Amino acid sequence: MPFAQSERKRIAWQDISLFVPSEWHIVKLQVARSEGYIRLDDDDMMRFELKWAATPPGQVLNLKEHAQAFLSRMAKEFKKGGKEFTHSIDTKLVGRHQVSGRDVLTFSWVSECIGEGMLWWCGRCGKLVIAQVIGSKGEPIKELAKRVFVSISDHSKDDWHEWELFGLNFKTPASMILREQRVESGFVRFRFKRGDEETLEVARWSAANLILKGTTLEGWAAQVLKEHLRKFDITYRRGKFNGHDCIELGGKAKSPLKTLQLLIRQITKRSPMPKLNGLMWECDKTNRLIMMLAIAPPQAMEELSASVVSFRCH
Ligand SMILES: [Zn+2]
Ligand SMILES: [Zn+2]
Repeated sequence: MPFAQSERKRIAWQDISLFVPSEWHIVKLQVARSEGYIRLDDDDMMRFELKWAATPPGQVLNLKEHAQAFLSRMAKEFKKGGKEFTHSIDTKLVGRHQVSGRDVLTFSWVSECIGEGMLWWCGRCGKLVIAQVIGSKGEPIKELAKRVFVSISDHSKDDWHEWELFGLNFKTPASMILREQRVESGFVRFRFKRGDEETLEVARWSAANLILKGTTLEGWAAQVLKEHLRKFDITYRRGKFNGHDCIELGGKAKSPLKTLQLLIRQITKRSPMPKLNGLMWECDKTNRLIMMLAIAPPQAMEELSASVVSFRCH
């Protein structure tokens, strides 16, 4: 069933984005520097997957061969379970002009469920991408698949990555790597790193009204920041962000650590001590609490602070 403008949502991660029906949700997300995977389900079944891998420069790619290999692997899986599997390649579901001139190859398959797929190689970012939309037997998914496929963007237009998922919506410098993701009901946290000195931490909590019952933003902040309070003297200042009251966090490395580390830094000529900079606020429109935290040496703080204020909560 094709989805209307109003029933679709945007999902963005790393430098890939697309629009999908709003009832699809992420069940798996793998992010690495040179490959990635995402899987989306609705309440009943798997609906979409996208897989990409960086290709070595200068390599000549035969899309048909890649599609054939991908489908053979699927056929094997289905046949193992005693299911029939038939497929066709080059179904021409999507034309070159519909996907910004990219060379694409579409395919489809039928087994106990059905799939429409698209495979392409992007000459600008070097990604080999394979995406497929899955449906129940007899379900008309061609139009839906086409809409999803033409909405896929496989590289960002600048040096920033966009993250729009799990109720988060922010940007990171492209050179920061996602090192940790925790996704639980009611709590999501992503940690990005660049080298061993720069960290960006993004977290959001649902049910802000319950969390803040009997406490203040500051009280809650002190609880959440426990780990950082061991290393930093953190100051809180009330401010405004995105139309909400917020706490602006500022932190300096604690002195015992500072003295010792300063000495080591002077000897090893490393950069100055890291600082902490961040925002915490309650979004009453979504009933969520959000924290954006940057830890970095002063020279990198400007860029990371731009990431902190890039968050859009409602
Ligand atoms: Zn690309
Ligand atoms: Zn908000």
